[in-house]
Amino acid sequence: MKIEGVVAHACRIPPASPWEDATNKVSGLELIFVEITTDTGLKGTGISYTVDIGGSAIQTLIEDYLVNLAVGMDPLDYERIWNKLNRQARRLGLGVNSMAIAAIDIAIWDIIGKHYGQPLYRLLGGSRDSIPSYISEINLSAADTVDELARRIDEYVARGYRAVKIKIGHDDPEIDFERISKAKEHLGRGKKLLVDLNQKWTAAEATQKATRLDVFDLGWIEEPILYHDIAGHAALKRAIRTPIALGESLYCRQQFQQYLCADAIDVVQADVAFVGGITEWLKIAHLASAFGRPVAPHFMMELSVHLLCGVQNAFMLENVVGGSLTELGLLEEPIVVDGGIGKPSERPGHGILIDWKAVKANALTSELARSAFSGGSK
Ligand SMILES: [Mg+2]
Repeated sequence: MKIEGVVAHACRIPPASPWEDATNKVSGLELIFVEITTDTGLKGTGISYTVDIGGSAIQTLIEDYLVNLAVGMDPLDYERIWNKLNRQARRLGLGVNSMAIAAIDIAIWDIIGKHYGQPLYRLLGGSRDSIPSYISEINLSAADTVDELARRIDEYVARGYRAVKIKIGHDDPEIDFERISKAKEHLGRGKKLLVDLNQKWTAAEATQKATRLDVFDLGWIEEPILYHDIAGHAALKRAIRTPIALGESLYCRQQFQQYLCADAIDVVQADVAFVGGITEWLKIAHLASAFGRPVAPHFMMELSVHLLCGVQNAFMLENVVGGSLTELGLLEEPIVVDGGIGKPSERPGHGILIDWKAVKANALTSELARSAFSGGSK
């Protein structure tokens, strides 16, 4: 089998509900889709994304450079292709290159699944056929009230969720503590509350404030401090009882290795689109398994459900409110979490059917980026 063509499309869509966390306000998700055709007639679809910025750079990198490297190769040689792309693109550092490689790699795994007539999760190990999901809020707007939060928590519990993640990181920590208390009360016994700081705190602040969070028996505290600070995370982990989750700002297995070796991470949140696709994500999951750490991949619910049902050390599936491809209006057939449980498609490959008309209708052009992007970093 040979790859004959690779085409990339990008679109920009506002989240289905307004997104705001402690360090950023999001105005648009930029999604990059890749279609790979082969000489056998099998086709694969790849997906990557970025939040607010850089979607056109990823699309251009694929179209102008990476296509040439992939055409003519056999998709079953996924390691050979990944290495070829990565060796070339590493000149660019981390980030945009692995996001571009991810789109191609995911399309290749889609083709491999179709070639063998198997759903993706079975190719990856088939550890289970479903995975518990947590609902994940991005709602730290000043307008949000504790009562509104409580109402939403009640709704999530009624929908079957047994774990909920909320954003914290108000300048006044008492507001955070009040929201956490209320959320815990409405979740009730046996359910877990997770909190996400999006790297808001300094290392010293984190030790002081996170120590006070220990009493809440939280499921994890996510990205408490700057992602570069491995020593800071290790020190924090020694100082608190709450597990530390991170990984959405890391881009390769070597960065995860440094965190694991430093004992600075409890829950590994590698994002399949950010680390360069399924080929690299699997290595990170297996590396985490050697350290006895579970994986709870960031975002990309429709793909992450396959990853989690593939590997042995799976923890939970993130379902971001307003962030599923279904909510964004980009699928021909909806993929949803039902009753708090994620189930992968049984179709060969990943089973994600993109609505290409919707992608085209929201095509990412320079004009759209310039008018829609206003910069949400706080
Ligand atoms: Mg996060």
